Amino acid sequence: MPRVIRCDCGFESTGDTDDALVANAQAHARAAHDTELADGLVRMLVRTTAPEDPPTNPRSPG
Ligand SMILES: [Zn+2]
Repeated sequence: MPRVIRCDCGFESTGDTDDALVANAQAHARAAHDTELADGLVRMLVRTTAPEDPPTNPRSPG
C-alpha cells in the first residue's frame, strides 16, 4: 500500500516503503529545517494513504 509522510510545513512525500519515506523526510528536514530527524520519529509520522483514520482508534499493544 502506498505510504505518505507529511511535514508541518506542507512538505509531502509518497513512496512504496517506509525506508524510502524516512530517507526523504530526513533529507527534507535537513535541507528545509536544518534539523536531524531520528529514524524512529520519522517512522511514527508515516501514514498509509487511507482516506480517513477513525478518531477512536485504540492503540494496539505491540
Ligand atoms: Zn518541512
